[in-house]
Amino acid sequence: MEQMRQITLNIPPTTKPRVVIVGAGFGGLNTAQSLPDDKFQIVLFDKHNYHTFQPLLYQVASAALQADSIAGPLRNLFHDTKDFHFRMLRVLSIDPGTNTINTSAGPLQYDYLIISTGARTNYFGNENMQRYALPLKTIPDALNMRSQLMQLFEWASLNGNPAISDYMLNVVLVGAGPTGVEMAGALSELRKNVLPKDYPALDFSKMKIYLLDGLDRVLPPMHPKSSARAQKYLEKMGVIIKLNTIVQDYDGETITLKTGEQIKSFLVVWSAGVTGETFPGIPKEWTERGRLLTDPNCRVIGSPNIFAIGDIALMKLEDYPKGHPGVAQPAIQMGKYIGKNLYAIHRSDKVKPFKYFDKGSLATVGRGKAVADLPKNIHLGGRLAWWIWLFVHVNFLVSFRNKLLVLTNWIWNLFTFDKGNRLIIRPYIRKGDERAKAVFTENESGS
Ligand SMILES: Cc1cc2nc3c(=O)[nH]c(=O)nc-3n(C[C@H](O)[C@H](O)[C@H](O)COP(=O)(O)OP(=O)(O)OC[C@H]3O[C@@H](n4cnc5c(N)ncnc54)[C@H](O)[C@@H]3O)c2cc1C
Repeated sequence: MEQMRQITLNIPPTTKPRVVIVGAGFGGLNTAQSLPDDKFQIVLFDKHNYHTFQPLLYQVASAALQADSIAGPLRNLFHDTKDFHFRMLRVLSIDPGTNTINTSAGPLQYDYLIISTGARTNYFGNENMQRYALPLKTIPDALNMRSQLMQLFEWASLNGNPAISDYMLNVVLVGAGPTGVEMAGALSELRKNVLPKDYPALDFSKMKIYLLDGLDRVLPPMHPKSSARAQKYLEKMGVIIKLNTIVQDYDGETITLKTGEQIKSFLVVWSAGVTGETFPGIPKEWTERGRLLTDPNCRVIGSPNIFAIGDIALMKLEDYPKGHPGVAQPAIQMGKYIGKNLYAIHRSDKVKPFKYFDKGSLATVGRGKAVADLPKNIHLGGRLAWWIWLFVHVNFLVSFRNKLLVLTNWIWNLFTFDKGNRLIIRPYIRKGDERAKAVFTENESGS
């Protein structure tokens, strides 16, 4: 009988130190791109075979962009890197005692381990929210959301029941951070410019877009001036903003607030918070609130050879006592820092501590409307902030192809007021949603 072949990662043996990077987000990608490939063997793991540009996920969810315009195939990005090995798998646990990383495809030993696994959605223990509301962290999440949104309109046009047709188009966005604000703006533009033409039989004055937050302003990480500006834009666009509002429960159809008030909606988007999540095997004392505590060289406190960067890292400094903000720039800058300095660290040379350069924050609300907090206490709004937002986002996309696709889509949208990606390629069927199952699985492949 033929012997079962053991699954291995098929990584060649090496005499160079092996660096294993977990996560090909902003942090991991920049690390891999900055490491000298003649000094290290570079191994990159991710559960996807592409890098996701998370800041534009909401545009995929709201049908403005196609998914592949914000995703960069990882192997393609490393054609010119020698001794580089990408493996698509899920990391399961780490054994720092034996320098072993355990994955869904088997174990591998490392000399240096860089953890850049980002953050995960935090439902604050609300199980019903986790079950029924939709998160927005990955491309599959964005595609689920786009499907659910478009399915609602298709379903509404099939449905003649006046008891539910009044609220079946409602969308509730929980969390008025950049994701909630940008999504609210995008949906409001869709409601104004696109949907009435697609569905002439539906009355879109009944489509309500709610934006809820427990805090007292939208865009809480930004300057109050920018928050006020963004709120004004959204209200003008017809978004119903409810601040100081705590969401208590959601049963898939009715969302209940702490005050007892209820809102009916079949689409609730949850972007109210994120949390860190480390791996089994990592000592508890290395972590705080799910994030890995690091020294100013990004080295995990307690480990000689494990580093953490980006959202998963908690580097407490005088200027950042709660760590750096959970946005792309700290992850990018930490990735470049560790990539450039790891060889010096390996040789026990002295290296300068990591220093974060805060380039400011941006959020867009819609066509010609954005807010920008820039260095030197400059706070911009309107068209100028929007152009800056556009330029920065195109510039940070990972490949020329992504830049071109995004730009052409945006130019198309700009001139036609249309969002061309309103496709239900893969219907989203929430667990137990028999109605959606009956209506939308009919035409799937093979049937
Ligand atoms: C919807 C949304 C909008 C955002 N908008 C902005 C914005 O406008 N501006 C801004 O600056 N920031 C924004 N952010 C935040 C920004 O995207 C993050 O701060 C940044 O991506 C963090 O980078 P990272 O490398 O730490 O993690 P990530 O980019 O999240 O990458 C983590 C990677 O690790 C992989 N991974 C995780 N666990 C495993 C495992 N067990 N095994 C294998 N692989 C694993 C994941 O697949 C992923 O590729 C936004 C985030 C979201 C979700």
